[in-house]
Amino acid sequence: MTNSAVTECPRCKCTELGLGKQGGYGNVHPVNKMSIGTEVEHKLCTNCGFIIESYVKNPPKFKNTLK
Ligand SMILES: [Zn+2]
Repeated sequence: MTNSAVTECPRCKCTELGLGKQGGYGNVHPVNKMSIGTEVEHKLCTNCGFIIESYVKNPPKFKNTLK
């Protein structure tokens, strides 16, 4: 309605999406740094469990990790 965000599961067409948070030992860490990790949020389908989008909470932490 206000943006292009996904509102429907591409797999089962369910429109009841939810947001999950992955923290603790599921945190994502920069590969080449000694650093605490950052939490990951997943937009997922509450019907079939399909993960539609995933985001890290602190993306600048991952700059220069491909070099
Ligand atoms: Zn689904």
